[in-house]
Amino acid sequence: MPGSRPPVDLAVVGGGFAGLACARSAAMLGLSVVVIDAKPEPGAKVRTTGILVREVIEDLDLPARLMRRVRGVRLYGDGPKPLELWAPGYYFAATDTAGLVRWLAGEARRAGAELWQSSRLVGLTETPSHVSLEMVSQGERVGLDARLVVGADGARSAVARLAGLGRNRHWLTGLELEFPAAAGEGADPIDRRFLHCLLSAEFARGYIGWVVPGVGVTQVGVAAAQPARPDLAGFLGHLAGRLGLDPEMLAPDRAIERRAGRIPAGGRVGPIGTSRVVLTGDAAGLVSPLTGGGIRLALASGRQAALAAADHLIEGGPSPTAQLVRTYPKLAGGRLWLRRLIERPLVVRTLARSLETPLVRAAARRIFFHRSRIWPLADGATAQPPGAAAERTGEQPAPR
Ligand SMILES: Cc1cc2nc3c(=O)[nH]c(=O)nc-3n(C[C@H](O)[C@H](O)[C@H](O)COP(=O)(O)OP(=O)(O)OC[C@H]3O[C@@H](n4cnc5c(N)ncnc54)[C@H](O)[C@@H]3O)c2cc1C
Repeated sequence: MPGSRPPVDLAVVGGGFAGLACARSAAMLGLSVVVIDAKPEPGAKVRTTGILVREVIEDLDLPARLMRRVRGVRLYGDGPKPLELWAPGYYFAATDTAGLVRWLAGEARRAGAELWQSSRLVGLTETPSHVSLEMVSQGERVGLDARLVVGADGARSAVARLAGLGRNRHWLTGLELEFPAAAGEGADPIDRRFLHCLLSAEFARGYIGWVVPGVGVTQVGVAAAQPARPDLAGFLGHLAGRLGLDPEMLAPDRAIERRAGRIPAGGRVGPIGTSRVVLTGDAAGLVSPLTGGGIRLALASGRQAALAAADHLIEGGPSPTAQLVRTYPKLAGGRLWLRRLIERPLVVRTLARSLETPLVRAAARRIFFHRSRIWPLADGATAQPPGAAAERTGEQPAPR
């Protein structure tokens, strides 16, 4: 179905972290941009816990009112005492994630991007001069032509499927409930200075269960690697016992929000694009296979896709795919091998029993507080050596 207007420079399919970062940068670089998103409004039906690593806040100016800093991690295994981890100056940010996506959408609009909500991509045809997209919007078929298309439509990308590109095949499945936080920081039975992470081969095979002291809420979730399913009900019971909480507090009918989603865990997909279409964010498999964190990579890869699109359309540079295949991280090798290893129940049970050993402690600190610059752009600048902050010790979260 041809569009009813001349082709826009860039159509971004997906208005999540990657798509909105891409749209904002591309519009600022002078491209005409349309974002197509299936949700009725930005920030609707959030599927993520929304924790940001500190590097995101260093890389971007984000509104502090949408975030709450959490300085340390409490990791619970089988022993009576959890392992407490922190690194000097380091913190995570729990976010009002829906608010953050709304803010990103506002920024993209302010930069000049057009946002089409309630528009689901159902067809894609690539021609030598442009790409024709077909959407269903409120029951109607709508067309749009674009010189380039960025597929930022998440883990189960329709762009990847319709353009015959690489697709995510290995997953974690996450479930999460959001409870109202007790009024007043000190009133909460959960120590809100920490992310609480629980190792369990029974409820969270291949990943962890978590309690996040969020912005006005407490998020409780669990994820497991395929083919296992996360056992949220079992986990809630286990959690109440482990943290000494009143089980009533975690009754599912007290939840004000329920989130569920798939997290790609198989590394970067391939191929990532054609001459006019390229994938970014979760659609490209850009999620840390170890931590399952993808927001930082989504924001950074979305912006890189915008830079590559502008370079191609304005400066006559190589296609975005040719540029990004060199600059996106592959997330392969040792990380994938470690992912397979921690999916084995025996390995998780052994880790849960030996959290206090120096080796496991050092490994846990490295995973949680691994500091790295985002991968270099094509200029080949070298990244900071990994684990720099993890080696330093001594600063504890402030007392309650
Ligand atoms: C339960 C869970 C917890 C997580 N927790 C964290 C965390 O704490 N920290 C972290 O860093 N990462 C976390 N992740 C991973 C993180 O959420 C993703 O890596 C990140 O959201 C990827 O951003 P994205 O923009 O690529 O995709 P998404 O955020 O998935 O956005 C994709 C967008 O595309 C749209 N879309 C999809 N299909 C179509 C279509 N056919 N037509 C039009 N629009 C379409 C969707 O509506 C959506 O708006 C978590 C993931 C899950 C599932």
